Amino acid sequence: MSDCIFCKIAAGEIPADKLYEDDEVVAFWDLDPQAPKHFLVIPKSHLRDSSALSEEDAALIGRIIRIGAHLAKENGLDDYRFVVNNGASAGQTVFHFHLHVLGGRVMGWPPG
Ligand code: AMP
Ligand code: ZN
Repeated sequence: MSDCIFCKIAAGEIPADKLYEDDEVVAFWDLDPQAPKHFLVIPKSHLRDSSALSEEDAALIGRIIRIGAHLAKENGLDDYRFVVNNGASAGQTVFHFHLHVLGGRVMGWPPG
C-alpha cells in the first residue's frame, strides 16, 4: 500500500533500526518505546490487522511469533510481552499488522 509507513519500511524506502529481515518478515526497534526493549515484527506484505488474515497467512503469522520469540531471547529477554492491537479503540495507530515485543521491565495486568 503506497501510503503505509510499514510497507515503506519493509521496502527500504524509509529507514528503520532493523534487528532482522528476510524475504517475508522484518523486525525493527519501535520509535517510541514503551519498555526498555520494544521492537516490532511485521510481514512485508500489507495486512491491515488480525481480521484481514486468511488461512494462507497462518504460516506467516506463526513465523512472526517464532521470530519475535527468537529475537527476544537474542536481546536478553527471558520474559516479555507480545501485543497485537486491532482497531483504533484497542490502540492500533498503524494499520499494517505488527507484533509488539516488549520487555526489560515488570509488566502490569490488566493492560491499560
Ligand atoms: P500500534 O499503536 O499498535 O499501531 O503500534 C504502532 C507502533 O509503531 C507504535 O508503537 C509506534 O511508536 C511505532 N512506529 C510508528 N512509526 C514508526 C517508525 N517509523 N519506526 C518505528 N516505529 C514506529
Ligand atoms: Zn502496509
